[in-house]
This record gives sequence, C-alpha cells and structure tokens, in this order.
Amino acid sequence: MIQFKQAAVPFWSGISAWRDVSEEQFGDWLWQERNAITNADELAAVLRGIASDEMISDLRAGLLHAPMAMRLTPYLVALIDWSTPESDPLRRQFLPLRSEMVDPHPLLKFDSLDEHADMKVPGLVHRYRDRALFLATDHCPVYCRFCTRSYSVGVDTEVLVKDRHSPTRDRWRKVFDHVRSDSTINDIVVSGGDCFRLKPAQIKEIGEELISIPHVRRIRFATKGLAIQPMKITSATDWTDALTNVCDLGRKRQVEVCLHTHFNHPNEITGYTVEAARLLFGRGITVRNQAVLLRGVNDDARVLSSLVKQLSDLHIHPYYVYACDLVHGIEDMRLSVRSACLLEKMVRGITAGFNTPAFVVDTPGGGGKRVVHSYDLYDADLGLAVYSAPSVKPGQFFVYPDPLSSLSPARREEWRNAKRADEMVRSVVERARAGS
Ligand code: SF4
Repeated sequence: MIQFKQAAVPFWSGISAWRDVSEEQFGDWLWQERNAITNADELAAVLRGIASDEMISDLRAGLLHAPMAMRLTPYLVALIDWSTPESDPLRRQFLPLRSEMVDPHPLLKFDSLDEHADMKVPGLVHRYRDRALFLATDHCPVYCRFCTRSYSVGVDTEVLVKDRHSPTRDRWRKVFDHVRSDSTINDIVVSGGDCFRLKPAQIKEIGEELISIPHVRRIRFATKGLAIQPMKITSATDWTDALTNVCDLGRKRQVEVCLHTHFNHPNEITGYTVEAARLLFGRGITVRNQAVLLRGVNDDARVLSSLVKQLSDLHIHPYYVYACDLVHGIEDMRLSVRSACLLEKMVRGITAGFNTPAFVVDTPGGGGKRVVHSYDLYDADLGLAVYSAPSVKPGQFFVYPDPLSSLSPARREEWRNAKRADEMVRSVVERARAGS
C-alpha cells in the first residue's frame, strides 16, 4: 500500500514565492485556484531564482507557438524538479520549450479525430452506436500540451482560435433532448474540457437529467482534477458531495456513474492524491484512469509499470493507455506504433488482468479506439499503421502515422513531398484492403 510520510520540508518550499505558504493553505483548493498561473509573466516571476534565464526564454517562446493556453496549479509547478526541467515528466506535459518543438507530421489535421463529423448537436459527439461524448464545458483546471481537443479547449492562443463549447443551459438542453430522443445511446461521457470546472449545481443538473433518461445506463464524469488538484476532492466538499449524490442516485436507479481521470506519471501521485483517492473509494465511487503515452514522460516500461501498480493500490483502475493523438505543436511527444506495442508487452503480466490497461490508438479520421496491436497492416518502414473498425465505420480504413523521427532519413525526406506522402498512404490502405 502506498504510504507518504509527512516530509520534514514541504515540497513547495523550494519555490520562493510559496516558501511561507502553510500546509493548510497549500491544501486548500481555493488557494490553488487563486494562485493558478495563467501567463508567461506570472510563470517567469515564480521561476525567478530556480530556472535559468535561457530556460524561461525557451518557455516563453514555446508558449507563443503552442495551441493550448497555459493554466497551472501551484501544486503542479511545485512537483516539477526545476533542477532538471528539460527531462522532468510534468514540465514536458504542461510547459512547451520552443527548442523541443519539431515540424508537425504531414498528416496532421485540425480536429484530427474528426469529432465535428460525428457531432449530432454542438458538443455531442455520437461516434459509437451505444455511447456519446458530451462536451459540457471547454475549460480545464490545467491545460495539457497534447490535448486532443485543442481545437476547442481553453482560451485562444497565438496559433489557434478555438471552437467554443461553453457550459450554457441552451446548448446543454439541445444535448439532453438529443440523448432523450435516441434510445441507442446507453452510455454518456461527460467531458470537455474538464468536469472540475463545473459548479456543484451543474454536476447535479447534468447527473439528474441524464439519470432520468430511461435508456441511459452508464455515465462517466471525466476530470484530470484528481491528478493535478487532488485537494479539491478533499476540501471542496460541495463539489465532491454533488458527485457523490449523483453516484448514489444512479446506484438507486441502476445507472452506473463513475469518474474517469488522467494520470500519466507516478510523480503525479502524492499524499494529497492518496487522501483524495481514499475518500472516493470510501464513498463507493468507481475511478478509472486514462493515460496518454508520451515520449519523455512515460515511454519506459518501469515508469508505466510503477504507474499501473500505484494506481491499482489506490483503487483507480488503469483503464487505457492512449497512443498520443496528432496535435499541433507536440510532435516531439509522440511514439511509434512499434514502441507502443513493445511497452504494452512489457506491462502486461505485472498485475491482474482487470488492472492492466488496454493500449489503444484513437484512429485519426474517426474510426474510434482500436487496440494498438490490432492493426490490419503495419509498415514500420513507411511509419504507417492501418486499422479498420467494422462495428464503428464498416468498410473504412484509418491510418495512424508514426512520428517522422522514428523513420530513416530517406523516408523522412519522402514524407516532405506531398504527392509522395499521398501515395504512401494510399498504398498501405490498398494493401490492407487486399488483405482483409
Ligand atoms: S485536462 Fe483533459 S481536456 Fe483539459 S487540456 Fe488536459 S487533456 Fe485536454
């Protein structure tokens, strides 16, 4: 069982701006909210004395080229090891360095999962037959560099104007009406954005409305909050109570209501996490984790295994590990399908099957999630994996490209030629179709 001893010196005391912040203050979610860092100047002020001028300039330049705005809790900033920020797994997830950025893959598209094509009403993605994704808000407590929904989430940046999905009643009403009218929908993911940014009354309203729809059997509230601001679970009692009440109501009506969260590295697990996870477990709330496979963060079997084991001990089911989607500005973080398959092989067997995550590719173009090694064809030389999804989009093929950095210099050069790139994609799809 995970035990976190009380440290003699609080882990945030190395940051001079927060040196005198008491444990009580630091563990108060409102203090974390009030002191969230949302722009480069605030970040530079906090990092003065612990990060070099070169690092701060590199961060400023990275933020100017990023599709995601910045929002960081002091908790997260303090968990970064600022003596080695280049290789720190948390810094890599939330703070881009301009010097790390590489050109995007030629197949990169805005909204790479083609969610707009499956939106029945604004903010309701109905891709799979029996389930739908409700984008309830477009705000998050932090912004991750690699967010799949960078097309919508957070405020506009220098490089991206967002497609808003604000938490308004009018928009929600259309979503509820659609779900009520379509009895094939049995399962709703309430996401965005992040449910941590919904008010307790909004959690209650969404939960009660969805539970009242007879054909809805499962509801999943998605939040990264447990990983990046766990003190909100324990100190924002009205938010946690609202979630608990919805879970209890669901249980009475035979509707499963659970929480999906997002840890990517063991460094994100602290004493605050343990307390929050214990509280949720004590209230009978099922929690599942959806991690993203990221170069320089968790592309190591020992790191992933440790994450899986620690989450399991906290009764957070390690449900998925996603291959990183094609997103603007994060090509340096993606891994090849071959690497993902190898990591899956190493992790499988370390613990019970029900706590072993499925490694999946969310296929570009809208084929949905496929187990990473279930490709119809994989040409590692061209860096292309082809997947079919007979129960989602029958007859279609979907192509996931490896990062160009995993290919030979000659292949990389070929990919820079648009006509040749198109030929390579068409050739693998034809080969997959011929073999199917
Ligand atoms: S918390 Fe989730 S939705 Fe928000 S930026 Fe991160 S990955 Fe995207």
